[in-house]
Amino acid sequence: MSQTEPEEIKNRYLAIRQAVQRSARDAGRRDTDVTLVAVSKTYGPVEIEPVLSAGHRIFGENRVQESQGKWPALKAQFPDVELHLIGPLQSNKAKEAIALFDVIETVDRASIAEALSKELKKSDRRPKLFVQINTGEEPQKAGVSPKEADAFLKRCQDEWGLTISGLMCIPPVDEPPSPHFALLRQIAERNGLKTLSMGMSGDFEAAIQVGATHVRIGSAIFGARS
Ligand SMILES: *Cc1c(COP(=O)(O)O)cnc(C)c1O
Repeated sequence: MSQTEPEEIKNRYLAIRQAVQRSARDAGRRDTDVTLVAVSKTYGPVEIEPVLSAGHRIFGENRVQESQGKWPALKAQFPDVELHLIGPLQSNKAKEAIALFDVIETVDRASIAEALSKELKKSDRRPKLFVQINTGEEPQKAGVSPKEADAFLKRCQDEWGLTISGLMCIPPVDEPPSPHFALLRQIAERNGLKTLSMGMSGDFEAAIQVGATHVRIGSAIFGARS
């Protein structure tokens, strides 16, 4: 199983980090303009540790419960870890998500905004919040539709008192991603938002070209998920 060898994962991570920096420079941006979020979902401490040891601290997970099983121990060892929730959140997990995650990228509907608002009032933690936009308007996919984005962002502020710092999207698998990245950027610009989480293993270069500030990369670092 060479794909889970710690040394191999470390080398892949270093190569991806370089590729992200190279893409940023190619796009006329600074290395530091683009944050690499290493997506460690389905992988455990054995695979995550080589990336931590290489100095990386920013990780993405898509399930609250899975993260609760592995991250508290890793965070105790590496207190400066920054954990991003990149998968759908359920209202009954809002409290746990606020306790564990530093960034919640998937505020995707009114009920979640409301649940987060309620739990944040009882907590000292202030995770950054991104709104997920369903740029392809795919019925099976989470996220606010592009035409409802402006109104939803306004409600987050006015109705729920939430400060939204960025947008996130996952383009349809069967379409060229760049138009979706451009749409996300447009929505962000007209709403005064500067943070764009877009681009994964297969399309991060394109996303950086269009202005991604965060790329979420899993399989290119950790290997294909089973
Ligand atoms: C799994 C996942 C990623 C990482 O995908 P890769 O193709 O493995 O890089 C990025 N974003 C989200 C929302 C994910 O669920």
